[in-house]
Amino acid sequence: MNITDKTVAVVSGGASGLGAAAATALAGAGAQLVILDMNADAGTALANDLGGLFVKADVSDPTSVAAALGDVKKRHPAIHIAINCAGIAPAAKTVSKGAPHDPLTFVNTINVNLIGTFNVASQAAAMMAGNDPLDDDGSRGVIINTASVAAFEGQVGQVAYAASKGGVVGMTLPMARDLAQLGIRVCAIAPGLFKTPMLEGLPQEVQDSLGAQVPFPSRLGGPSEYARLVRHIVENQMLNGEVIRLDGAIRMAPR
Ligand code: NAD
Repeated sequence: MNITDKTVAVVSGGASGLGAAAATALAGAGAQLVILDMNADAGTALANDLGGLFVKADVSDPTSVAAALGDVKKRHPAIHIAINCAGIAPAAKTVSKGAPHDPLTFVNTINVNLIGTFNVASQAAAMMAGNDPLDDDGSRGVIINTASVAAFEGQVGQVAYAASKGGVVGMTLPMARDLAQLGIRVCAIAPGLFKTPMLEGLPQEVQDSLGAQVPFPSRLGGPSEYARLVRHIVENQMLNGEVIRLDGAIRMAPR
């Protein structure tokens, strides 16, 4: 899909980190931006910088997503790109000090990371289905979900997070198949270790040690490197139904 000034892109979790970088890159390529996030202060500030729109939404709640996309519809007749970056990463073991994992933490992680991704993707796809085809291929939209290498090598303490991201990986091909007749592509990116507020909360020596575990380049990824892949997936029509690892060849150790 070519990105023009008529292309409308919705980015969940766009107030911070990877989502903010994707929003910035897509706006830089000419798209009209909509940021969906719980963080109204940061989301509004970035949307204003990018000449875009901020809409507050809790992706885990389908009614909140429907209301937010309803607001988007008032401003834009169509959306063409939906990027799912909203996510949380709580750490807890299956059993810790004799007590089982808090079931509410597990459910909440699945609700935000997996069901939240499904809510935005499915509702955005329903809107995209009404778009006029954009090109000779009959393209109507592109959806990019964000998984994690934890979907494949979840570490100690990542049982809920890895389960949620495994669900995002599992959704990719069937969603692409479901939406193929509508001309809507679906891919997922599985990032390794990226320098965002999610990781910047860790002490510097832990960040350095994590970066040193990446075979090459031996450092944390930059959010703009994630954003470049987002842009490439949007623009490369043959990418569909695939989960792309973006990880400098890291394969996470158990801990
Ligand atoms: P981040 O914490 O910087 O940004 C996450 C954003 O999601 C925040 O703006 C937050 O307000 C928003 N959010 C959280 N819950 C929400 C909800 N219920 N509804 C709406 N918005 C909500 O994190 P990040 O590092 O940019 O992560 C982005 C995505 O990438 C996440 O899905 C994360 O799991 C994934 N990821 C990150 C890394 C990494 O190394 N940073 C690695 C692999 C995967």
